[in-house]
Amino acid sequence: MKICVDAGHNYSGGDTGAVGVGGLKEQDITFAIADKLREALIANGHQVVMTRNNLTDNLGTDASSSLRERVRIANNNRCDFFISIHCNSGVAIANGTEVLISARGGVAESYANAVQDAIVNRMGTMNRGVRVDTEYLGIRLYVLHNTNCPAILIETGFISNNDDAAKLNEQPEDFALAIASAFGARTEESRFTDTDEHWAKIHIDKLEAYGIVNGYEDGTFRPDEPITRGEAAAMVSNALSVLGK
Ligand SMILES: [Zn+2]
Repeated sequence: MKICVDAGHNYSGGDTGAVGVGGLKEQDITFAIADKLREALIANGHQVVMTRNNLTDNLGTDASSSLRERVRIANNNRCDFFISIHCNSGVAIANGTEVLISARGGVAESYANAVQDAIVNRMGTMNRGVRVDTEYLGIRLYVLHNTNCPAILIETGFISNNDDAAKLNEQPEDFALAIASAFGARTEESRFTDTDEHWAKIHIDKLEAYGIVNGYEDGTFRPDEPITRGEAAAMVSNALSVLGK
């Protein structure tokens, strides 16, 4: 699966996040978790596209251009899933983990449930459940409604609560490993039945992951057979789509 990992908010400028206990900054915590999540997902065989590649990255100049840029990155890269990482903030006593989705009944809800359970079990945070943004918050969260792929927004914990803030600050890798566990390992090494021994296997798998080649209906790729002019045109066209042309 090609997964877009979105570290919520910007390091500085227009779209910085909440400030919590001891001056802890949401945008620093979200990046720490996202960075570890990238490693864990890649180790499990997934492809990862980051919205912020570095702690100090800033996307856009204000909240709306920042959100648009995150969605643009996910859509341009044709990601299969979008994970936005945030910290909640409120009165000091409020605490716990919740995952937000745009609607019930889809792929996003399945993964949201798995992520919610994994974080609560591993981190011991309070279970606030999986929520639909329009029902729970009364607003449409931009990244959940504008990405082309299923999307979830994880409120990992309350940065304004002493216990949650300590976990967020000291154990970003544990949050990341919990989230990654919900996505499992990529099971099939190759989709094709006749490429495992072929010298071009890694190249074929890469093109398949990007949707540039699809193989035949019987599950073969037939790596040594000639291609037709039609197939060549389809491959070039698919490659141009990946580049956004
Ligand atoms: Zn946030």
